[in-house]
Amino acid sequence: KVEIIPIRWGEEEEGQGVLAIVRDFTRMRRLETMRTDFVANVSHELRTPLTSIKGFIETLLDGGLESKETTKRFLTIMYQETDRFSRLISDLLDLSRIESGQTELNRSKLYLAPLVEEVRLTLQDRLAEKNITLSVELGPTAVWADEDLIREVLVNLIDNAIKYSPPGGHIRVMEINRGDEQEFIVCDTGIGIPKDSIPRIFERFYRVDKARSREMGGTGLGLSIVKHIIERHDGKVWVESELGKGSCFHFTLTKYQEGKE
Ligand code: ADP
Repeated sequence: KVEIIPIRWGEEEEGQGVLAIVRDFTRMRRLETMRTDFVANVSHELRTPLTSIKGFIETLLDGGLESKETTKRFLTIMYQETDRFSRLISDLLDLSRIESGQTELNRSKLYLAPLVEEVRLTLQDRLAEKNITLSVELGPTAVWADEDLIREVLVNLIDNAIKYSPPGGHIRVMEINRGDEQEFIVCDTGIGIPKDSIPRIFERFYRVDKARSREMGGTGLGLSIVKHIIERHDGKVWVESELGKGSCFHFTLTKYQEGKE
């Protein structure tokens, strides 16, 4: 798409044409840079767990096997790394599937309260481990959305709320009526996000603290998946956060209207 900016200087129609072409090249170059950056990022992210696994295997072959305790410790780490590796692959596949727009949205009349309860069941061990409570403050308003994709949004947001909260925290899922739209909010009492990171938080592979995210098994792709899913539903997603106090992730979805199906 070439963007034409009407700048008037006398009668020079051709001048406008040249300006339009320049803009288009800039955009193409930016897309190309984004693509090569992405490939470089993916390669780096895939190589990291492999390098670590290889290092542990080498140490074991070099005599580490003699100690049963060391062997067990290293195998546990290797197991966690392979887990993260496969999560990375499945996140990348999810992202490319949603981003390419190939899959049709499978929209239906959807209530979020039962969906959050399903997510609670999936994450109940992690909630219990950190003694974190999850309160669901949602009424009977239905939205027009893809159930599987919105479940993925909720899993990612609630999982992050657990990951980035100290033990004993509280997570609340709330909503606000916005006319034709419903706004949903997932709030935590976690570590919060520094102000200068907030504009970048939905970028692929962006992490405030790489080491911490990795330790938690993060891939750095969760929030970009959330953003893509919500935007495919023509909704908006944003975050409000205070360092050391907690974060609230907001997203909007279109309300279900009778006769829509
Ligand atoms: P990750 O796999 O690293 O969690 P995400 O894309 O889900 O990747 O999130 C990107 C980054 O945003 C995280 O690494 C973390 O720094 C920050 N973040 C996400 N959710 C929260 C939250 N609820 N509280 C504090 N920081 C968060």
